[in-house]
Amino acid sequence: MGAFQKVIIVGAGPAGLLLALFLSKEMIPVHVLEAASEIDDQPRATHYGPAGVQELERAGVLEAIRAEGFLPKDLCWRKEDGSIIAELQQEHIPLHSRVTSLPVNRVAHIILDALRQHPTAKVDFNYKVTRTGQDDDKAWVEVETPAGVKTLEASYIVGSDGASSTIRKNLFGDSFPGQTWEPWFIASNVYYDFDAHGWDDINFVIHPQNWFMAARITKDGLWRVTYGEDGKLTREQCIERQQERYRSMLPGNPGSEQYKLTNISPYRVHQKCAEKFRVGRFLLVADAAHLCNPFGGFGLTSGIVDVGGLYDCLSGIYNGLADESILDKYDEIRRRIFIEQVDKLSTANLQRVMMTEPGRALELDPFLNAAANAKKDPEAAARLAQMARGANALKHDFRQYYKTFKTESSASEHLCCT
Ligand SMILES: Cc1cc2nc3c(=O)[nH]c(=O)nc-3n(C[C@H](O)[C@H](O)[C@H](O)COP(=O)(O)OP(=O)(O)OC[C@H]3O[C@@H](n4cnc5c(N)ncnc54)[C@H](O)[C@@H]3O)c2cc1C
Repeated sequence: MGAFQKVIIVGAGPAGLLLALFLSKEMIPVHVLEAASEIDDQPRATHYGPAGVQELERAGVLEAIRAEGFLPKDLCWRKEDGSIIAELQQEHIPLHSRVTSLPVNRVAHIILDALRQHPTAKVDFNYKVTRTGQDDDKAWVEVETPAGVKTLEASYIVGSDGASSTIRKNLFGDSFPGQTWEPWFIASNVYYDFDAHGWDDINFVIHPQNWFMAARITKDGLWRVTYGEDGKLTREQCIERQQERYRSMLPGNPGSEQYKLTNISPYRVHQKCAEKFRVGRFLLVADAAHLCNPFGGFGLTSGIVDVGGLYDCLSGIYNGLADESILDKYDEIRRRIFIEQVDKLSTANLQRVMMTEPGRALELDPFLNAAANAKKDPEAAARLAQMARGANALKHDFRQYYKTFKTESSASEHLCCT
């Protein structure tokens, strides 16, 4: 028996399911409540960066994700005519840190399958949380279920209910500080022979209007093409323009008979961070807590890292290794990492592809310059490694706030001095 009774997790997206899996491995009782009748199949995340990959490995699901997905070999930035501005090879990066690709709905299914092996985990679909409350001893949610409205209680309640989080709104109303990008982001999945045009696994095309990303997302040749449309268009107008946009943007200027479009969704995209990630017994993770644009794959990657951190905090409390103040550390540090790293890096990634003078990209952008010269110039390689370190700064080991803890790098036990 641990120091508390149960955690309710609101939202069976990848973040909520992963937290449930981590906690279940320690026999901490969890109850996942999901409003929808099944896992969301929209075309969203596809690529997970090193910090997220390491947490997926810690949760024991990386092998299954990589078995179904794959490791992209190389990425590059191109001009509108397809010529390469800079290229980065991935193969020399250690395996445990390699970007991994698999559509997010498949990732969620793999995590759910692993979770279902644990007797202390309960997952209910068609359970929509509407209201929340808490006192000194417990927190509760009011839930619309097929059997009527229920009130469910737990020691802690985690909002992993995505961008429109009910938990966040119940805590902060409509306040979700940040900004919304003007263009629509059109995320489409398509079978098209990019290989015939010599394209890399991940390609960013730099252009002030016709910027886009094309990345292989499955082993059987499905690609994600994400591009911008005028924010004043309607959703329907964006979808109507798809054939024309593909013909003008993609290599080979294909007509619709040359590819098979399997999915298309326009998105409004934001850079936002909740006022706090902890209010008493309520905690926020991933999209419920923060949002960023998809260029560079920081959204869910940083959400997965939140989850790993929150797991360490809750597990520390449950096992008597930490007191509740560790949750304030979670709030303070995960918010700081979002604001100082994720928000800045993801914004820079997007601004890079929207650059007004692609012809001067190497002159104007130190990152592209270092990437383009890294192979032949050791100083450029060192600059690139320095800049790439930002991505690793997403992580923070909350076990250092335990009364006793072991670091990842050493087996020796330290006494906590805070
Ligand atoms: C086009 C696009 C591409 C992207 N690409 C990448 C990428 O390559 N790499 C990356 O790391 N990130 C990427 N992202 C971001 C990534 O998709 C999200 O960060 C991630 O899906 C968020 O996961 P989540 O579990 O926090 O939320 P969600 O996946 O949104 O899950 C939230 C769940 O909560 C449920 N829910 C909502 N309200 C309630 C309620 N009241 N009661 C009960 N349940 C509720 C919802 O039904 C849903 O199932 C991309 C995003 C977009 C839009």
